[in-house]
Amino acid sequence: MKKKIILIVIMSMILYITSCSYKQNNGADKKISKSDFMLNTYITITLYDTEDETLFEPIFDYIKQLENILSIHIKTSDLYKLRENAGKEYTKVSDETIEVTKKSIEYSELSEGLFDVSLGPIIELWGIGTPEERVPSKEEIEKALLLVDYKKVKIDEEQKQIMLEKEGMFIDFGAIAKGYIADKTADKIKELGIDNAIVNLGGNVLLLGTKSDNSDFSVGIQNPEEARGGYLGIIKASNLSVVTSGDYERYFEKDDKRYHHIINPFTGFPSDNNLKSVSIISSTSFESDALSTTTLLLGLEKGLSKVNNLDDVEAVFVTKDNKIYLSDGIKDKFELTDKKYKIVN
Ligand code: AMP
Ligand code: MG
Repeated sequence: MKKKIILIVIMSMILYITSCSYKQNNGADKKISKSDFMLNTYITITLYDTEDETLFEPIFDYIKQLENILSIHIKTSDLYKLRENAGKEYTKVSDETIEVTKKSIEYSELSEGLFDVSLGPIIELWGIGTPEERVPSKEEIEKALLLVDYKKVKIDEEQKQIMLEKEGMFIDFGAIAKGYIADKTADKIKELGIDNAIVNLGGNVLLLGTKSDNSDFSVGIQNPEEARGGYLGIIKASNLSVVTSGDYERYFEKDDKRYHHIINPFTGFPSDNNLKSVSIISSTSFESDALSTTTLLLGLEKGLSKVNNLDDVEAVFVTKDNKIYLSDGIKDKFELTDKKYKIVN
């Protein structure tokens, strides 16, 4: 685990150093990119057909502004205030918090409660990805689970306020905020007059427009066995978002068992089915992010049928025995590059 963290840090630093400078290919693409550590991950913004580095400042400032509203770890955030007032009173929140909470509850309903934005107490208890990560006791899990119930998250849209009905409850937007922020960032980039760009928030990728010559971008589908950036296949796409959820992203191992960061709210334990990862491809990052976590929790059969019933949403499911299942609409667009995996449908 330690080795993995060191490797990720080194790779991220290389990415950071190389991507701060202005880049221009001699070929068709003229682009600049910049990376920074925000949202608890490395983010990279690439702008096409411009040399204007000053554009980065308003973009990164805007991402920071959204993080300050939506992160449970920032003491002035809406989520932090909601936590302090849980079980007591309604709290006035920003439009952004209302929007993300509403969408989260939609996904809770779609997943029959498997996606649950009120999972904060359980996520904190496990501490996965933090120095405090550990397997909690059965008693601790049972106690924390009493505080988890998305139906106790009350939204008063008219007055723009939210209340968590039980003291001790708190919201965690970890499964959905990056998607929301990616879409908002793309809007900001468009406002600044840029039509073609890539917003990459720690692997949560949004492709705005096309490449300079109007051709599609090539996007790697994350390989769940490699550090971020390694891919198992590619798709060519424009104006789309690709988001992957998986058991490889944040986890620790104890007694040969992997404990990862996506948790089943009914058991309080990491989701345990045949899936290693799911990548969702759709027109908004908000939807791709929410659905990638949801389908990973739903498992292969239910997840794949959910995706096949949605318009304009595609998916790549990777199972623990290295099989790949594709949704109906992506079969002719996905190119497998890592032969260790096998497409079975
Ligand atoms: P993602 O990488 O988008 O799939 O999101 C994973 C993150 O979502 C975790 O690190 C937690 O912060 C949060 N999370 C974990 N389990 C759930 C769940 N069942 N419902 C909603 N959010 C979750
Ligand atoms: Mg997600």
